[in-house]
Amino acid sequence: MGAPAVATLTIVRSKTARRVMAVAATMFLVTVLSVAVPLLTVVFIASGQSGTATSADVPKAPAVDPAAHVAKGGWTYPLVGSYWKGRGFGPDPNISRVCSYCSTWHKGYDMSQGCGATVHAAAAGLVTHAGSYFGYGNAVVIENGGGVATIYGHMAWGSLRVSTGERVRPGTPLGAEGITGNSTGCHLHFEVRIHGVAVDPAPFMAARGLPLK
Ligand SMILES: [Zn+2]
Repeated sequence: MGAPAVATLTIVRSKTARRVMAVAATMFLVTVLSVAVPLLTVVFIASGQSGTATSADVPKAPAVDPAAHVAKGGWTYPLVGSYWKGRGFGPDPNISRVCSYCSTWHKGYDMSQGCGATVHAAAAGLVTHAGSYFGYGNAVVIENGGGVATIYGHMAWGSLRVSTGERVRPGTPLGAEGITGNSTGCHLHFEVRIHGVAVDPAPFMAARGLPLK
């Protein structure tokens, strides 16, 4: 035992020194806790958010009036609330590896809330088709005016709530998300056509204040 150790012991034996050391220890503990608690909280929140998506995380369609979400020019989202993004618009040469009948040029935007979720008219218009429609399965086609048409594909058989010749408003329920036609899982194929030509729905909707994922 050397001289510094003896000195420390002498200090510890003194009553005042013990008080000073106790205060110092308390302050040290408070400092450590004030740093550690927020850090642990951040780690906890982060770990809670970074889990792999499971079926339990599939967003539920909220009970809100879709017409209340109508944005610029009377347009609204065909699926109200959060959704999963599927294939976007454009070429997808690798699709044949998982789906032999799917087109290598995707003409719409795939989105999903899960089987049975309500699909809404994205804008007002005239229903020009409601029922089986080529690879779109059970689909609704709406002429929205100004040369714009919207198509809602793969809806469940028997789920359609509109008929050909019917006028719809933005947010009118059309049917339920399904797997009909050329579809590998429940989703909505949302397509926008301008004068008969399919355009990318993402910039089209973004220009109306409704950005897609
Ligand atoms: Zn699609």
